[in-house]
Amino acid sequence: MTRFQKLILFLLITINTVNHSIVYGQEEKSKCPCLQSKIRFDDSSIEKLVLHPEDVLADPNLFWANDSAYRLVKLWHQEISLPIPMDKWKGWVQELKNRSAEEREKNTQLIAVKSMIKKEKEFNDKAIPYICSFLPKDCPTISTTIYFTTAIMASGFQMGNDIVIYGENADKDNLLIHELFHQGQRAYQPTSHENESKDSAMDQFYINLLIEGTATYVAYNALKEFPNVDPLIRNDYRLLQDANALNRLREKLNEILKKAPSLVAAEAGRKEFMASLWQVGSTDRAFYVVGWYMAKIIDEKLGRDALAGAIPKGPRSFLHTYNSLVDEKLRVFDLYTKK
Ligand SMILES: [Zn+2]
Repeated sequence: MTRFQKLILFLLITINTVNHSIVYGQEEKSKCPCLQSKIRFDDSSIEKLVLHPEDVLADPNLFWANDSAYRLVKLWHQEISLPIPMDKWKGWVQELKNRSAEEREKNTQLIAVKSMIKKEKEFNDKAIPYICSFLPKDCPTISTTIYFTTAIMASGFQMGNDIVIYGENADKDNLLIHELFHQGQRAYQPTSHENESKDSAMDQFYINLLIEGTATYVAYNALKEFPNVDPLIRNDYRLLQDANALNRLREKLNEILKKAPSLVAAEAGRKEFMASLWQVGSTDRAFYVVGWYMAKIIDEKLGRDALAGAIPKGPRSFLHTYNSLVDEKLRVFDLYTKK
C-alpha cells in the first residue's frame, strides 16, 4: 500500500468513526428524552420579600395571590392540611422591613440565591444527566422552574410542574436534586400501576417508601458530585449514617404495618393509622431513611437499571424486590401478601 493509499484508508476510517459516534450520540440522546430537560431558576419572590417588604405588607393578600412562589406555598399548605400562620408570617416580613437598605442587600439568603442564579447553566449541565441516570431510559423531559423564596415553613417542596426552595437552602444542590428527582418520578404514577390493593391508605405507605426513599438515595449520592453540603447538617443524612436509627425506624414502621389490617377496617382506626403513618414516616423520617436503605440495597445488589426500573414498576415490586435481597430481620412487613 502506498503512503497515499494509507492516508486515504486512515481518513476513511476516521471519518467513519466520527460520523458513527455523532449518529450514535444523537440516537442515544433521542432515546432518553430526560436529557433534554430544562431547569429554570427564579428569584423574583425572595427579591420582593427581602428588598421590598413594605410593598408586600401593603397588601399581603395580593402578594399571596400574585407571587408565583407563594401561590405554590398556598397549595402546599392546603395539600398537607397545615393552616397558613398569617400573623406569624406578617411578623417575619415585618422583621425584613425593619432592615436598612444596606442590610437588605447583605441578606445571607438573598446572597445564596444570587450565587445559585449565576450557576443556572452549570447546574443544568451537571444535574440533568445525573438525575436522568437514575430514571428509566424513556423518562420524559423534565421542564421545571425552581422558585427561591423566604418566610415559609418548608425547606423545599415540589408542587405540580414546579419547585419552591427556602432561601437558606438555595445553594444546597442536593436538596434541589431531591425535589427535581420527584419531578422525574411524576412521569410514573405508582398508583395507576398497582391497583390490586383496594386500600389506598396502605398503598400510600409503600408509595411513600418508594418515592421518598429513592429521592433521598439519589440526593445523598449527589453529595459525591455536588460536595457543597456537610452531610451531618441535614437530619436525614445523620440518620442514614446511624445503623441503630435505621433499625429502630424499620421496627417502628413494621409495628404499624402489622396493626394496619385491624385498624383500617373502621373509620376511627383508619384515622389512627394515617396519624401514625404520618408520625413515623414523615416526622420521624422512616420513609426517607428506611426507603433510602431499600433503594441502596437494590442499586448495590441488582444495579442501576433495576433501581431505575423500580419507579415505573411501583411500590409492591419495590418492596418485594428489596425483601428478596435481605435477611428476614431486615425485611419490611409485607401487607400485600399477608393481608
Ligand atoms: Zn421528597
